[in-house]
Amino acid sequence: MAAPIASLIELCADLESGRSSAVALVENVFARADEVDGALQTLLHPRRAAALEEAAVSDARRAAGRLRSPLDGIPIAIKDNIVQAGEPASCASRILEGYRSPFSATAVERLRGAGAVIVARTNMDEFAMGSSTENSVRGPSRNPWSLERTPGGSSGGSAAAVSAGIVPLALGSDTGGSIRQPASFCGVVGMKPTYGRVSRRGLVAFASSLDQIGPIARSARDCALLLDVLSGADPGDSTALPEAALESHRALDGDVSGLRIGLPKEIRETPGVSPEVLTKVEEAVAELERAGARSLEVSLPHTRFALATYYLISTAEASGNLARFDGVRYGFRASSDGGGVTPMYERTRSAGFGDEVKRRILLGTFALSAGYYDAYYRKAQQLRTLLLRDFEAAFQHCDVLALPTTPQPAFRIGEKTGEPLSMYLTDVFTVPANLTGAPGVSLPCGFQDGLPLGLQLMGRPLEDATVLRVADAFQRRSEYHLQRPPL
Ligand code: GLN
Repeated sequence: MAAPIASLIELCADLESGRSSAVALVENVFARADEVDGALQTLLHPRRAAALEEAAVSDARRAAGRLRSPLDGIPIAIKDNIVQAGEPASCASRILEGYRSPFSATAVERLRGAGAVIVARTNMDEFAMGSSTENSVRGPSRNPWSLERTPGGSSGGSAAAVSAGIVPLALGSDTGGSIRQPASFCGVVGMKPTYGRVSRRGLVAFASSLDQIGPIARSARDCALLLDVLSGADPGDSTALPEAALESHRALDGDVSGLRIGLPKEIRETPGVSPEVLTKVEEAVAELERAGARSLEVSLPHTRFALATYYLISTAEASGNLARFDGVRYGFRASSDGGGVTPMYERTRSAGFGDEVKRRILLGTFALSAGYYDAYYRKAQQLRTLLLRDFEAAFQHCDVLALPTTPQPAFRIGEKTGEPLSMYLTDVFTVPANLTGAPGVSLPCGFQDGLPLGLQLMGRPLEDATVLRVADAFQRRSEYHLQRPPL
């Protein structure tokens, strides 16, 4: 029996005391994967031999007293849309079959610079479009808490691999909830940082004004340590914030006295929210009040338009971003039956993209087309501004917002695949953070029928450290994040 791998903090202590080594941790990762990943299907392209070699180099650095960071020697898995030099980056799409990246994402370079050991890539919805990993060309990943359920998506492979104790850390990407929603479904912590906090260079673009890379881990503290390594200015991404790297882990002092927590009143009016989810969020806020915080009701009147706004802006941006996959530069090309270049594009894109990706390209192209632009895309941009004002107004009265991550716990595989709209509705509480650029974290706050529920905390843009401090304060007073799935 391969034991589930411990949390980052525990592993750091084991490495420091000599109880474990980086090589032993990589062995633990693959022994655990051999045991549970046949059922879960979270990892793509394991780098067993390369990871063992890199771990041995980390152990040598440690022996020589030249550690690079707290992450030196720690195994991590990377979502398959964040590129690493020489490795595949399929984005779980047929159209990137056979592609290997010639360069590494800035986030990957920072991890390697910090000494972390990349062990594998993780399964996802094709091009990060989806909420369940069911849109993967490799087939769905499964939820460690209940194998007939989805781990969420689109970073479902990353969240499930952390939840199952295959890896202590993983990277995800979040355009409308793809880190927070699977973290919530799998009972782990996932954070979408402030837009621009982590460089997007080397993240395959879905919707560039919304996309962010972020950490998935077992605790807020582990997320903070990982985010600190990922964050910081980058000349390779003009939207990366000019600020120096965060030191958010230093802000985790457990102190929330005087902190004001806003509860948006619109949450209760959202159709389809489970009463258990609401109760658990309120209980979590009550716990933070016992620690010295205060809670108050706030209003975000335009959030009822957030989903429609998101699905217009994200598809519009996706329709442009995905134009580059044409059979010429990247991956798969449909066999040429002659007829010139245009039929080759058409055959490649018809055979290379899955249904959901095609649906998004069509929707986005429509929303941007002459005659419809004003009614759809322009309207969506106006709503985005109104939403931003709602949040600015709410943050005059409170320091963080508390809300559910998702209206319900993990749904069954196959339950929503026939109804794209019901799938989109699972994102109702996560898209506002992307539309406004604000940081958001999801952390475990209870269970419903044995399935984890997530509390979402949002903060003012740039206040990533505050959000993590509150999440950590809750975890000092609760044990939900310590529970492991029965695998
Ligand atoms: N589920 C949302 C979508 O399908 C969010 C995806 C994401 O954040 N990448 O667009």
